[in-house]
Amino acid sequence: MPSSEFQLIEHYFSRLGALRSDVPLGVGDDCALLQVPPGQQLAVSIDTLVEGTHFLPGVDAESLGHKALAVNLSDLAAMGAAPAWVTLALTLPRVDEAWIEAFCRGFARLAARHQVQLVGGDTTRGPLSITVQVHGFVEPGRALRRDAARPGDLIYVTGTLGDAGLALLALQGGYDAGEHLAALQRRLDRPEPRLAEARALRDLASAAIDISDGLLADLGHICERSNVGATLQQAAIPLSAALAAYVRATADWSIPLAAGDDYELCLIVPADRQAAVEAVGQTLDIPLSLIGRIEAGGAIHCLDAAGNPIAVARGGYDHFRNP
Ligand code: ADP
Ligand code: MG
Repeated sequence: MPSSEFQLIEHYFSRLGALRSDVPLGVGDDCALLQVPPGQQLAVSIDTLVEGTHFLPGVDAESLGHKALAVNLSDLAAMGAAPAWVTLALTLPRVDEAWIEAFCRGFARLAARHQVQLVGGDTTRGPLSITVQVHGFVEPGRALRRDAARPGDLIYVTGTLGDAGLALLALQGGYDAGEHLAALQRRLDRPEPRLAEARALRDLASAAIDISDGLLADLGHICERSNVGATLQQAAIPLSAALAAYVRATADWSIPLAAGDDYELCLIVPADRQAAVEAVGQTLDIPLSLIGRIEAGGAIHCLDAAGNPIAVARGGYDHFRNP
């Protein structure tokens, strides 16, 4: 059992994830030495998870290890980049070996699945906080940026929306999800970065974002950066069985439209590539849904099945301009 900080690092962090040939020197020295392959740009992103802000106190450590890496890999997916390296800054209130081991298990399993190697980090004492930085590769000019949406483009999303948000509502006692609770909680605790989907769609899409803050807010970021607006068809928003039951019972669309933490992708596709994108969509493990269109002007409208604009009560609407 490791006793010092050095032994802790050596035991838990020195061989975590894949073993990559582009890492001449990983954990253990003052710096890692890393080799970006010729002809590639480095894509870098960092995210911090703070207990009580980004996750509920007492959430299980293995899920937290998974999620801390997943939310970062999701940013690489949204850029169309292939993941390679990760660093981890961990602030822990105490040395709880069972907790660290479970955390590393969740982190390592996801890292290995996506050929990611942990190459360095920092370990300190304090209120529980986890910072992960990911590094990936993308060819120059091929990244999916937020500023490339144009009027007439089609808006697609992967998977289903609102599941993580409904899980949170249910866990906080605001909704009885019944038989759906376990599946919903899995969406909240173990988000799957949509790397394969991004890879498959990268050369057809022109812009993308991952849905971390809610569809309206995140699509709002694309609209702002691209100087465009959007019209969404509410009836086309993809819902799981649990979400469909919730919306039927409450008529509340704010969860699928504005709740965060789903880590699905929102992809913008030029209209003349619709058939090609939908052909690729057929080959994916999860649904790919056409939910609306990019428009001129800065507003995002959401239309009900009869074509009437609807207002959403809370969440994401604060993040962008109302018409
Ligand atoms: P320094 O004092 O030079 O910052 P540290 O003692 O913080 O060195 O870290 C020693 C080595 O262990 C470094 O290579 C560092 O990257 C690595 N390391 C420390 N904490 C972690 C961690 N949580 N995950 C991965 N690597 C870590
Ligand atoms: Mg250090």
